[in-house]
Amino acid sequence: MATSLLRVPPPQGLLRPLVVPERLLLGPGPSNVPRRIQAAGGQQLLGHMHPEVLQMMDEIKAGIQYAFQTQNQLTLAISGTGHCAMEAALLNLLEHGDTILVAINGIWGQRAADIARRLGANVCELLKPAGEYFTPRDIEKGLVQHKPSVLFITHGESSTGVLQPLEGLGELCHRHGCLLLVDAVASLGGAPIFMDQQEIDVLYSGSQKVLNVPPGSAPISFSERAREKLLRRKTKPQSFYLDMGWLANYWGCDGEPRRYHHTAPINSFFSLREGLAMLAEIGLERSWEQHQANCARLCQGLLNLGLELFVKEEKVRLPTITTVRVPEGYNWKDITAFLVDNHAMEIAGGLGPTVGKVLRIGLMGCNSTSENVNRVLGALRDALGSCHRSRL
Ligand code: PMP
Repeated sequence: MATSLLRVPPPQGLLRPLVVPERLLLGPGPSNVPRRIQAAGGQQLLGHMHPEVLQMMDEIKAGIQYAFQTQNQLTLAISGTGHCAMEAALLNLLEHGDTILVAINGIWGQRAADIARRLGANVCELLKPAGEYFTPRDIEKGLVQHKPSVLFITHGESSTGVLQPLEGLGELCHRHGCLLLVDAVASLGGAPIFMDQQEIDVLYSGSQKVLNVPPGSAPISFSERAREKLLRRKTKPQSFYLDMGWLANYWGCDGEPRRYHHTAPINSFFSLREGLAMLAEIGLERSWEQHQANCARLCQGLLNLGLELFVKEEKVRLPTITTVRVPEGYNWKDITAFLVDNHAMEIAGGLGPTVGKVLRIGLMGCNSTSENVNRVLGALRDALGSCHRSRL
């Protein structure tokens, strides 16, 4: 037998069949994917410039315009996750030396500040403790003091469970010559947001939360004001892949013939199209009501279990992700592991400033049902009885 030239054998793990267990995903995302969306992602491929694909991309664009409540022409899906949309927003809006004010009350502001610093921006921070939100007065103070050209704020702070009120912020920013950039990855479809009426200049989201689409595509939209800032740039954005000029053309937003920019993740877009279609069929208002009602049921059930909610003010609790304090004497890891092992269910611990302090329970899109509220409450009751306090 000829001596093989191969020094690396085929990996044993890959020679076994793929095993994916059934699991109810009630963490902060991803959420479960309904069969219809799975089936869309499993369709046969087409070419990324085929007319059927370009038409499907137009439908995605219209679906995002509906979900965001915007007429913005520059509306598309980024080929990447929520972080990729965050980077796309920041690197297209900011040039070296631009000042950005970042509202930080959890991990997402921290991440945005990190990205903006890497881009060479002058980053000013507006800080609030985890679990709190910013008032228009807080924001105005920051705008007056720092005179930024962009304000970053998170609508659904998934690391803390806070829903940031956006009313009046767009107008306030514009009065101070600043653009408003909002992260709605964790809130879109679960809490009201009106891009045009609220004068938001750049809004982005993700696919794997309320839309119940696998991670990998991220809706984003730019207002006319934001588009003008992109056109006034003196330097090119640092990333070719995320250059909004190129993406606008590929998505048919600039009136020019579409040119190849990158090979779009077509099957991810099939899934995104179906996720947006399902949201359009249910309707935004019904979806918002459903998330609100199930969140309220969950919060009441958690209180009935003797647990303490992390966000005190009811009106700023994020309807998609609820944070509850880790009960005294318990190790959060025991609780999350118990739920996976005994109830085939995921909930998560804290993130960033809330690590070790909270458990995070997500009820998003098709997972936001009263049945799931009962299931997670039952599982938690079971965990509290079974995970012994003495193990700490
Ligand atoms: N922003 C928020 C508010 C999020 O909840 C997340 C995801 N947890 C992201 C941004 C980042 O999204 P991704 O993990 O899809 O990159």
